[in-house]
Amino acid sequence: MLVAVLQDKLVDALYAERRSDYVCPACHQRVGLRHGTRVQPYFAHRPQAPCTILSEGETPQHIAGKRQLATFFADWGTITLEHVLPAIQQRADCWVARPARSPVALEFQCSPIMTRHVLARTRGYQKLGVQPLWILGSRYAQQKLGWSLIERFAMRLRGWGLCLLFWDVRRQRLRIDHHLYQDALGNYHGGTAWLTGLAELIAGAQWPIPEPVLDYPLWRSKLARDLHLRTAGVLAVQEHLYPLGHHLLDIPMALATTAKTVPLFGQGLLVWRALVAAKLFALPTQNVTAATVDRLAEACFAIVGGHRRTVWLTIDRTLEIAKRHLMADLVSQGYLRETAGGWAIQRQLGWPGEN
Ligand SMILES: [Zn+2]
Repeated sequence: MLVAVLQDKLVDALYAERRSDYVCPACHQRVGLRHGTRVQPYFAHRPQAPCTILSEGETPQHIAGKRQLATFFADWGTITLEHVLPAIQQRADCWVARPARSPVALEFQCSPIMTRHVLARTRGYQKLGVQPLWILGSRYAQQKLGWSLIERFAMRLRGWGLCLLFWDVRRQRLRIDHHLYQDALGNYHGGTAWLTGLAELIAGAQWPIPEPVLDYPLWRSKLARDLHLRTAGVLAVQEHLYPLGHHLLDIPMALATTAKTVPLFGQGLLVWRALVAAKLFALPTQNVTAATVDRLAEACFAIVGGHRRTVWLTIDRTLEIAKRHLMADLVSQGYLRETAGGWAIQRQLGWPGEN
């Protein structure tokens, strides 16, 4: 902790004298002032009496980062370090009281944390009308962009789309991975910008991010390898295709698309389209209702490892759009015809491996 209470006043560890009567602002237990050679001064609970409010163990990165973030966000409003919210038993690393707008709670996350804890803390802040902002430390900055980061921390910011925020203590800069999405082959993408000041964050992304190039040969060779290794996710899809006489490596190019999705789509839009189409053309009827398509879309979304929600967003609209586009593509290519009650199958969709 950077702040303790001495005789009913908050004291910053940077300016604190050595004495024995500091207490924790949250739990009111005794805390001691610590100095290190590599660490800026901070207050610590006694090991036998840890804080009752969950907070991150102090590391040089966490201590330095909190102060740097307080400087970075200073123009946004009045900053308080380690603001305690007794109502939800939480302590924000930095608190920004913005004039005439909801306050912001900055969480500088350096240590591992489980999704349900991120969710609980986020909902706790939201319940109080506070906007939480998760900013990630070096442990997370080294990770490859993927579901694990997105599930917990990806949020929408004006001008940046769906994004992740990282604070680099050494460079004293904010990294923002922005406009995150998945391409149709399931790969995760986004732009990366390094920001030196709050004005740049408020301004939003200045350059469009490049369109993805879909590398089908690479995608196929990964699929083949995963099938060979019997990777659970890929195997689950193949197990649904096999009884229909199809193979994952033979997905018809008629289903190819350059559409992007929110990054909740598991193995990606193309595999989902293939699975929906395979099941649709295997129906024991020529007439397909909207309810049937809904059912297939949901079932196949689960099979491709799609996720219904993250801490910050839900899939609903994306799945709706994906469904509409698939049906429109199948109609425009003459496989389906629109009818009063839905669609009628005009001709079968051939898979290359079949004869
Ligand atoms: Zn405490």
